[in-house]
Amino acid sequence: MKPVPFDYVRVEKISEIFDAFDSYGQDARILAGGQSLMAMLNYRLARPKALIDISRCPELAYVRVEKGALVVGAAATQASVEWRESLEREVPLLKLAFPFISHFQIRNRGTVCGSIAHADPSAELPLCLTALQGEVVLLARHGQRILKPDEFFTGMLSTAVEPGELVKEVRFPLVADGHRYAFDEVAMRRGDFAVAGVALDASPLEISLTVGGVADRPVRRTWPSSLAESDVDDALNEFAWDLQAQSDSHASAEYRRHLVRELGRKLIFGTRHETVS
Ligand SMILES: Cc1cc2nc3c(=O)[nH]c(=O)nc-3n(C[C@H](O)[C@H](O)[C@H](O)COP(=O)(O)OP(=O)(O)OC[C@H]3O[C@@H](n4cnc5c(N)ncnc54)[C@H](O)[C@@H]3O)c2cc1C
Repeated sequence: MKPVPFDYVRVEKISEIFDAFDSYGQDARILAGGQSLMAMLNYRLARPKALIDISRCPELAYVRVEKGALVVGAAATQASVEWRESLEREVPLLKLAFPFISHFQIRNRGTVCGSIAHADPSAELPLCLTALQGEVVLLARHGQRILKPDEFFTGMLSTAVEPGELVKEVRFPLVADGHRYAFDEVAMRRGDFAVAGVALDASPLEISLTVGGVADRPVRRTWPSSLAESDVDDALNEFAWDLQAQSDSHASAEYRRHLVRELGRKLIFGTRHETVS
C-alpha cells in the first residue's frame, strides 16, 4: 500500500517545528529516522496531513554528557550513540543492548528519541531507559516537561506526549559506582523485536530487573540485594505472573513467563552480556 497524501516540512531549526505544529495542529507528525513511521504510513496505520522532518536539524543532533547523564538529542541516530568511543564507560547497559536492536542499517537511520517516542513494548531502548530510571524531556513552544519512564510510557505504542510537544532529548544516567549491568533477550531471529528482553542493574543495596516485550510497556522490579538465593525463583515467578503476559502469534503467555524466569535468573546470577563498573 501507499501512504495517504501528506505535506512534507523539513526543519533546520527547533522554532520551525513549532511553526509547523501551529500550522497543522494535531494533523502533524514528527518524522525522525522513519524506520517505524514509514511502515505505519504505508499500512495507513498513521494518516498525518504533514510530516515534520527533524532528521537534519543540527540543534537536535547532539550526544553529550551533562549533569551525570548521557543526553541524546532528537536527531541523534542510534548508531551515533552506539559507536561513541566512551559509551561502555558512560552507560554500559546501552553498549550491551544496542547489538540487539535490529541491524546496523536500521540503527544508522533510526534515532534514540524516535524509539522512545514510538514506545514499542518490545524495543530495547525504552527498556534501558526504564531500567536506568532515565528522563524524557518534552519541549513545547512555551516550556518543557521532564518525565520519568513510568510517567512517559502509558501503554502499547502510547506515551504522555501531547499535541504540540516534541521529545527533545532523553537522558540516560551515567554508570554508578559498584553497579553491575547485564542485558539479554530472546527473539525469533537475531535482530527481530524481542519476545522478551531483560535488563539488570544490581548494586550493593538492590537488584533491579526490567522486562520488555511481556507487558504493554517495560516494567521494573526491585528487590533488596540480601534476597536469598533460594528466594530468587519465587521472586521471579511472582514478577512473571504480575506482568500479565498475553499470547500472540510470536509466543504464548506461558512461554513469555518462562523467559522472564529464565533470563532473570541468568542475569541475576551473572553470565554473558555483562559488565561490572
Ligand atoms: C526491519 C526493522 C526492524 C526493527 N527491529 C527493531 C528491534 O529489534 N528493536 C527496536 O527497538 N527497534 C527496531 N526497529 C525500530 C527502529 O529502532 C526505529 O528506528 C525506531 O523504533 C524509531 O526510530 P525512528 O527515528 O526511525 O522514528 P520514526 O520512525 O521517524 O518515528 C517513530 C514514531 O515516533 C514519533 N517520533 C519520532 N521522533 C520523535 C520526537 N523526537 N518527538 C516526538 N515524536 C517523535 C514519530 O512521529 C512516529 O510516531 C526496527 C525497524 C525496522 C524497519
